[in-house]
Order: sequence, then structure tokens, then C-alpha cells
Amino acid sequence: HNATGTVVVARIIAIANQKGGVGKTTSSVNLAASLAIMEKKVLLVDCDPQANSTSGLGFDQEDIERSLYTSFFQPEEVVDAILTTSSPFLSLLPATTDLVAIELELVDKMAREYYLADLLKPLDSRYDYILLDCPPSLGLITLNALCAARELLIPLQCEFFALEGIVKLLQTYEQVKRRLNQNLSLLGVVLTMYDVRNKLSRQVKNEVRKCFPDHLFETVIPRNVRLSEAPSHGKSIIHYDIKSKGAEAYLALAKEVVLRKPQRRDAQAG
Ligand code: ADP
Ligand code: MG
Repeated sequence: HNATGTVVVARIIAIANQKGGVGKTTSSVNLAASLAIMEKKVLLVDCDPQANSTSGLGFDQEDIERSLYTSFFQPEEVVDAILTTSSPFLSLLPATTDLVAIELELVDKMAREYYLADLLKPLDSRYDYILLDCPPSLGLITLNALCAARELLIPLQCEFFALEGIVKLLQTYEQVKRRLNQNLSLLGVVLTMYDVRNKLSRQVKNEVRKCFPDHLFETVIPRNVRLSEAPSHGKSIIHYDIKSKGAEAYLALAKEVVLRKPQRRDAQAG
């Protein structure tokens, strides 16, 4: 509850693009860490069976007993699955590789798109931000993330076919919005792995700006070797090298995210 007595619900943001290697996990982990250093309470949910957000924050598969996977079957224990990190404002709902089975296990379930939304419900009032790092597909896990989220953030790698790749994602977004989750809105598109010296990067940026005049983030994430090194140290860029260009960029992105407020649905406290 905030000072005016309203119940503040978390901003739930799905970070999605069905293409692999475009910077979803890098953006999830580092945006989460940047928001956390701004003293926002953040829960990062690793929705990818590859579990890169989980390992990137220094957690070992072997040590994880409860995870997003077990929470799908024991939603009442989801709180016990949440791990605290070295950053006091950042928590993680980890993934393990067995999460890959969920796509099949949910297939014949009623309302199979809403499992994640349901299990996150009791966490809504505990955090300011819940970030969902999605897998590189438009399968059931990503659909669950789009149904649980209120906002969609799309990382786009600066490469030749960048825009072609997201047509399908945008169609999926529109369909989800129409049929499954009316509360979903497009938070923005962020360009990743940008290289100022590369003419192609600049061209892609201009193209994307034309396509998303209202949704392209001012902040562009540069290609920065420190960003690619940080996960092997089990740290976000904020804890690995806060002076790096990569850290600077994700801190700027976090500020933009905070300012781009969606329509809040504050409920009156009883
Ligand atoms: P995704 O989650 O979309 O598959 P990742 O975030 O894992 O993508 O990024 C793919 C690879 O690119 C990783 O090895 C990551 O370290 C690297 N990477 C991502 N963003 C950057 C960047 N801005 N600069 C340098 N390397 C990056
Ligand atoms: Mg990833």
C-alpha cells in the first residue's frame, strides 16, 4: 500500500521476441538490476527452459529445488520458489531445464494460456515490477507470458532482417490482445547490439523508427563486450561493471521504462 492507501499492483512486463540471441535475457537481467538499483522492488521470472537469466544471476541448476516449473503444479508454493539475490531489491523466480516439458503438459489443459497469470497473482502486490524473460518461440510459455503481462517490451537486434522477424510477434500480440488479454499494451521496442560505426545499424534504427514512431525507446543498447562477459560471472552489468557503456545504457532504459507509465489500475484499499 502506498501513502494514499491505494493498492499498488506491479507492472508486469513480458520481454519477448521469438528469435533467439536478440538480447531478451541480457535486457531482462540488466533492466531488472537497473530498476532494482533505483530501489524498485523487482521480480525477474525466468520463463525460458534454457535458464539463462537464472545462471546469469549466479544460480546453479543443481541447487534449485523449487522453480517456475514446480510452481506451475504447486502455485501455492510459488513464494517459496523465489530466490533473493545480492541486490536487495531484486528477486528471481528461477527456471530449470525441465521447464521445457510444460509446453506439452499444458496442451490439453483448460485455460492453458492463463497458468502463469494465475500463479503470479499473489505476487502482484509485493513488487513494483515483474519482468518475464521469454523463450525464443511463440509457444505456450510465451503465450502464458503475454497473458500474464500488462506490457510487452520487444528487444530488436540491429541486423538486416530485424523487422521481418517481428511481424509474427506483432500478429501474436494483436491476437492475444483481442482474444486473451485485453490489458496488454506495447511498452516499446528497444534496439540491442547497436554499433555506431556500422552503417547497417544506423539504417535499421531509421527503419524501426519509421515503423514504431511512438514506441521506439530513445535509449539504444550498444554492442558492449562487458554485457556479454557479465553472465559468466553470475552478475548483472550493474554489479559486474557499473561504469561500462552497457550499464549506462540499461540504466537509461530503466529510467525510460519508469517514465513510460501505462494506465494504472490502482484498486482502492478496503
Ligand atoms: P536471447 O535471450 O534473446 O536469446 P541473449 O540476451 O542471451 O539473447 O543474447 C545473446 C548473446 O548476445 C549472448 O551471448 C549475450 O551475452 C550477447 N549480447 C546480448 N546483448 C549484447 C550487447 N548489447 N553487447 C554484446 N553482447 C550482447
Ligand atoms: Mg534468452
